Amino acid sequence: MLTQLFEWTKDFDSAYTFLKERKILAEKMVCSVCQQEMSLIKNRDTKVFRCKAHKNQKASIKKGSFLQDSKITLQEFIRIAYVWSRQITGVVASDMCDVSWKTICSWYQYLRDATSHHMLMNPYQIGGPGHVVQIDESLICKRKYNRGRVPEQRWVFGGWDTEDKIGFLVFVSDRSSDTLIPLIKKYIKPGTTIHSVSGVHTNNVECFWKNAKRKFKTMMGVHSSTVESHLDEFLWREVYGKSGKDAFDNVLLHISQWYIV
Ligand SMILES: [Zn+2]
Repeated sequence: MLTQLFEWTKDFDSAYTFLKERKILAEKMVCSVCQQEMSLIKNRDTKVFRCKAHKNQKASIKKGSFLQDSKITLQEFIRIAYVWSRQITGVVASDMCDVSWKTICSWYQYLRDATSHHMLMNPYQIGGPGHVVQIDESLICKRKYNRGRVPEQRWVFGGWDTEDKIGFLVFVSDRSSDTLIPLIKKYIKPGTTIHSVSGVHTNNVECFWKNAKRKFKTMMGVHSSTVESHLDEFLWREVYGKSGKDAFDNVLLHISQWYIV
């Protein structure tokens, strides 16, 4: 896979071809004056669309895309999407992609936004007739080192389909049935056998909760405005990004479905 990354990002043309194939960038662009297809001309180390008849009519190759108005190069974008899909964290990612840590943070957020958008547009439900879903709640605490303060803690409610091996998780303010029942209806298909399994977990669900808890602990440190998108990313990876390759292919696919070029 790494060999492919080098191929895709070898030079401008390779990256441009790759992003057109993945429908991240438009194949062609028409002039806004005459509606004729524009031609592609070289412009420093990138390319730009220009109308043959109206030489002042130009359009960026990023126009209308997820990359519109961004400063990063096409190669940088592919590298960032690649390291994000492999869950490589900030400093190492910045080193590998040769961009600033700030750029990595911004783009990781944009990619998370793409997962949020997809989850919003394609809500999913687990279970179904003949399926068993194990539901559970867990208290996630973030240890505080300054004594005397109440530790930050939040309840998480989740379910796990033992057959499809897929789960959901949500933050909840309390564990009352008024809070949980609507969530069960939202995330679990009708006709599912629901087991409440506090403490008695099979291996798979144990693993799901362990990963979730680890993820949630790191999320407790992030700004509250981005907590939801971190949760979306976690669930998105459960469904679409089990492997780094899946995450990479699917995030590009979902971006191409979001920004239709
Ligand atoms: Zn024109």
